[in-house]
Amino acid sequence: MPNAQKTVTDRDVVIVGGGLAGLAAGVGLAACGLNTLVLEKAPILGGRARSWTDPETGDAVTVGPHIFLSEYPNMRKLMRILKTEDRIVWQKGKFITIVDGQKETDIKMSPLPPPLNWLPCMLRERDFFPLRDLLSNNRVSRLCMQIREEDVLRLDEEDALTVLRNLGVTERWIRQFWAFTCQAIMNVPIEQCSAGALLRFFHYMTSRTHFDVGFADRGLGDLFAPQAKDFIEKRGGKVETGVGVKTVAARNGRAAGVILEDGTEISARQVLVTLPPMDMNQVIPEEWAKRHSPFKDLAAFGPSPYISTYLWFDKKLTRQQFWARNYNENDMNCDFYDYSNIYSKRATDHSFITTNCIYSARLDHLSDEEVVEKTLEELAEYLPAAKKAKLTHSLVSRIPMAIHCPSTGTEKLRPAVRTPVPGLFVAGDWIKTGVPASMESACTAAFMAAEEILADEKKPRKLAEPMKRPQGLSGLLWRASPTLRKLPFFSPGNYLR
Ligand SMILES: Cc1cc2nc3c(=O)[nH]c(=O)nc-3n(C[C@H](O)[C@H](O)[C@H](O)COP(=O)(O)OP(=O)(O)OC[C@H]3O[C@@H](n4cnc5c(N)ncnc54)[C@H](O)[C@@H]3O)c2cc1C
Repeated sequence: MPNAQKTVTDRDVVIVGGGLAGLAAGVGLAACGLNTLVLEKAPILGGRARSWTDPETGDAVTVGPHIFLSEYPNMRKLMRILKTEDRIVWQKGKFITIVDGQKETDIKMSPLPPPLNWLPCMLRERDFFPLRDLLSNNRVSRLCMQIREEDVLRLDEEDALTVLRNLGVTERWIRQFWAFTCQAIMNVPIEQCSAGALLRFFHYMTSRTHFDVGFADRGLGDLFAPQAKDFIEKRGGKVETGVGVKTVAARNGRAAGVILEDGTEISARQVLVTLPPMDMNQVIPEEWAKRHSPFKDLAAFGPSPYISTYLWFDKKLTRQQFWARNYNENDMNCDFYDYSNIYSKRATDHSFITTNCIYSARLDHLSDEEVVEKTLEELAEYLPAAKKAKLTHSLVSRIPMAIHCPSTGTEKLRPAVRTPVPGLFVAGDWIKTGVPASMESACTAAFMAAEEILADEKKPRKLAEPMKRPQGLSGLLWRASPTLRKLPFFSPGNYLR
């Protein structure tokens, strides 16, 4: 770099990206005494979980509404370190409400051991869970209860729709349950989704005693971004916004720091890049990008775009915090939130409703006005009062990538945090963490990367929290699976070996 202004710095670690992964890694490293610099290109921290204040209403707006699960051990660990865990509002008494017109179905877990904890709800809500469809899920359930990482990787080659059909699931149940799960959680159409990724998520849902769903009680970024900056800087590090990294600096075959967009070079012993797969290669020197995994495989990770819509009303429309529409592929929106029932310091007498339209490229042609109009129509099917209420303000947020699409073949390409290049590490929600791309995956990858860096710095430390092992009857079956899968009844098709 002939024009580079060399800046001599004594940073132990430079982190590219100030989203959840970059900040969580920074917190983990700073807590262990490493001098850490976090560089964020955008003017605000938080990346895809950032938030800001809407100038017209004064309400906090997040890039799109998010949920937490109680089983987010690493996200919750970060928030415990930052003393913000009590800012999650946990929804009481149910997992989700599915609405079909004005009909509500509350999906709840019972105290029975998993997977029986879902059974009472299924028996109670017979319209939503027709017996014939439920029974058709039988072989899939047996497979999911036994699934291990090597099975996930084998199933990654196949698309979810084909595998579910081969296992005898009815077309109606594929549409109502599996296509909904693919859209809401995996963020990709069922015919495109990796069967391994989807069935691992089902295994996770059916092998835990209890899940609660939670929401930020204010802007999501306000639960971690300013506190992480403060935490890192109090320990001698620095977090800078509005500073784009142009490339990782290479010296003698190893990463030696970064070069900024303005030409400034910052040297550091270790470099951690926390960018999404689509942005990663913009900062990786070409010789490494062509030669090494994960960089040469990044084209396989396509984006799942979202359109999030925000509607402010002059009246209260509901006491629900969160609901989703019964799946229909022609719908625009999937999940809905009324933040007047969630935010702790906001007026509760007029609704502030936000929605997510997932895998939204099919609707890119709509203008913002059309998006608002269609969202109002869908909202009014459940809450007819929305038609009479006055819409006082609206906002449409178009997000090029919420997460990567977990398409067939991508699960096995999710990389480890240590790259083949000495001194260069990667983190972010798309890293191989064993959980779908999410806030939890971003924090898990961050703590895993920090552990590897600490090991190289001769300060080994355990930071990443493991997922709980399968519990209840699901746990028994899972542990016995190496033997059980040899028996014809327990080995559904050729999917388990
Ligand atoms: C609308 C929406 C809804 C979602 N819902 C949920 C949910 O309900 N639950 C859940 O768990 N997850 C959800 N997610 C996903 C979750 O937000 C992400 O998985 C997580 O925030 C990813 O964090 P990250 O740090 O890996 O990546 P990012 O947040 O993308 O961070 C990368 C950062 O790097 C910065 N950057 C890029 N290029 C450069 C450069 N050259 N130099 C310096 N900085 C750079 C970017 O500006 C960005 O801040 C949702 C996401 C969206 C958008």
